[in-house]
Amino acid sequence: MRAMTFSGTGHPLGPTDLPPPLPGPGQILIRVRACGVCRTDLHIVDGEIADPKLPLVLGHQIVGIVEGQGPGADRFAVGARVGVPWLGWTCGVCPFCRSGRENLCDRARFTGCHIDGGFAELTVADQRYCFALPERYSDVEAAPLLCAGLIGYRALRAAGDARRVGLFGFGAAAHLIAQAAVHEGREVHAFTRPGDAAGQAFARQLGAVWAGGSDQPPPAPLDAALIFAPVGALVPVALRAVAKGGAVICAGIHMSDIPSFPYADLWGERNLRSIANLTRADGDAFLALAGAAPIAIRARTYPLGDANRALDDLRAGRIEGAAVLVPDPRP
Ligand SMILES: [Zn+2]
Ligand SMILES: [Zn+2]
Repeated sequence: MRAMTFSGTGHPLGPTDLPPPLPGPGQILIRVRACGVCRTDLHIVDGEIADPKLPLVLGHQIVGIVEGQGPGADRFAVGARVGVPWLGWTCGVCPFCRSGRENLCDRARFTGCHIDGGFAELTVADQRYCFALPERYSDVEAAPLLCAGLIGYRALRAAGDARRVGLFGFGAAAHLIAQAAVHEGREVHAFTRPGDAAGQAFARQLGAVWAGGSDQPPPAPLDAALIFAPVGALVPVALRAVAKGGAVICAGIHMSDIPSFPYADLWGERNLRSIANLTRADGDAFLALAGAAPIAIRARTYPLGDANRALDDLRAGRIEGAAVLVPDPRP
C-alpha cells in the first residue's frame, strides 16, 4: 500500500510502498477515505514531540471503511465507516486510567505518533478507541472532527459555563469550536493574527460576535480564553483579556516559551491550564453534539501524495479551516 512516511526531522515525508498492515487481536483493518492534517503533525515533523516511532506514518484524524477484523474484533462490521482519533491505546490500570483520565495515561500510545496513522491507503486501529461517525458529514468533513473538533471540545468543556469565550488562533479547531460554542449559547470572540481580515470575516461568518487581531483587546472582559495557536506570547495576552475568576486554556500539544508576566495578570483567581489529548468520553460527547447540531466544516483537500504541500500550507497559515488528505481512488 502507498503511504507518506516520516523518517526523521529535517526530511520531508516520502512516498513509500509498504506491506498492507495486518490487524492483530482486537484491531480492525481500515481503508482510509480521508485523513485530517493537524498542527501536531507539524510538531512531530519539527522534532518538538518526544519519541515518535520511526519510520512513521503520520495522521490521527482518520475516516475509513472497515475492511478486515483481527481476532475478536467484532465491534464494527466489515463495510462500516469508522473514525480513528489521536488516542490509540491506554493501559487501563494506571491511576489516571482508573480515574476517568485516560488522556493522561502514563503509557498511552497515540495514533500517527507511536502507532502508524492515516497518511496511507490502509491502517489498523484498536477497535476500542474508534468511533462511529455522524452520517450527516462526508468523509472529508468528518476527518477534522476527530482531533480539531474533539480536543477543541475538551478545551471548551474546561471553560465550564463561561458565557463570553475568546478563541486565540482561528484555524481548524477554532472554526469548529466557535460553532459548538454558539450552539451552546455562548458568545464567541475570535482573535486572529493581527491584520488577518479574511480570518476575521470567516470567524464572524461562523457566528463570532466580535473578531479582531490578537493585538486588540476584546470589547469587554472574557469569561474564558482558549488558545489554539502554538504561541506562548499569547498566554499573558489572554490572561489580560479575561475577567477576574476567568480561565485561560492552552489547547495545543506544544507552544513556544511563555514570556514572564506580572503576577497581577494572574491575580483575581484567574486560572491557567493546558489540555492534553482526549478521552473516549470526550469523543462520544463531541460527536453527539456534531450529530445533533450541523457544524459547517471548511476543508481543503489534498491528494495523499501532496502531504508535504498540505503541511507547508498549514505552517504558513494559508489554510482557512482544515486540511484533509484523500488517497487516490482505487484503480
Ligand atoms: Zn493508563
Ligand atoms: Zn491533532
